[in-house]
Amino acid sequence: MTLLLSRLPAILLLAASTLAHAAAPQVRTQAPGFYRMMLGDFEITALSDGTHAFPIDSVMTHIAPAQIASDLDQAELRQPVQGSINAFLVNTGSKLILIDAGAGQLYGDCCGKLVDHLRAAGYRPEQVDEVLITHLHKDHAGGIAAQGAPVFANAVVRLSQAEADYWLAPAGKASAPAFLASFFDSAVAAAAPYQASRRFQPFKAYGPLEPGIEALAGPGHTPGHAMYLVSSRGQQLLVWGDIVHVSAIQLPHPQATVKYDSSEADASATRWQLLEMAAGMHMLVGAAHIAFPGLGHIAHAGAGYQWLPLNYDSAPSPFSPP
Ligand SMILES: [Zn+2]
Repeated sequence: MTLLLSRLPAILLLAASTLAHAAAPQVRTQAPGFYRMMLGDFEITALSDGTHAFPIDSVMTHIAPAQIASDLDQAELRQPVQGSINAFLVNTGSKLILIDAGAGQLYGDCCGKLVDHLRAAGYRPEQVDEVLITHLHKDHAGGIAAQGAPVFANAVVRLSQAEADYWLAPAGKASAPAFLASFFDSAVAAAAPYQASRRFQPFKAYGPLEPGIEALAGPGHTPGHAMYLVSSRGQQLLVWGDIVHVSAIQLPHPQATVKYDSSEADASATRWQLLEMAAGMHMLVGAAHIAFPGLGHIAHAGAGYQWLPLNYDSAPSPFSPP
């Protein structure tokens, strides 16, 4: 009894400290979604727009359900798999160029975080000089406008002429499957405020757009799907948009397509070609839908490919000549 009493204060202290720890509420938010790297003299900031539950079973085509299950198992993933929506901000030193702009309000609360993350990364939307759009799907172009107003008040919006023609002319919507109807409407709404101020400027030919920025064709997912090759001091980053939607499936099995592909055959052919090129050239890739920050390399793996994410760097350093 005496022994127990003498230990009581210590027991009470222990109980009190346990209670104090238990009272701290879980926070459950993520760090602001930006990741910085240097590419030659250019500063690259990957920006997360958020993640959403990617509806793999209802969207993937040209791959058997058993293969999907096996691929996800190999990657230690369980459905629903969170799909990243990534964009890339390039500060060339003379221009601030945003490549893709996220979903804005069109995907709900999961997403539309790009502007918050851009601010957290030290920039303001009105500083953006150009927005380069890979294609006019909601999760890439939805974020350029909100309630009919431009989100990037001083920016020129650029994309391929083929992409603008397909999504913005009424004929495109009329001939497309019904499930794509809202994509046409959202593309028209995103473009409108920039068209009204003559800052919607599609390019007629792929090729150099700015010093260090070149547009390349990557057709299939959409008719005018563009990629942007960013180059500085001999270093290159290929921002390839939607060449890959679910890396755990489409890298081991590049033939797997998504029902949103305008041409599944072209999308598959483009993916095979790009993966082979990226692996062969050891090219740094910026991917819209590979886990944030979506920066890494492609390597051969068996009959397919694998993703090698960029090594985390807490203090990206300026270019120094080799
Ligand atoms: Zn996309």
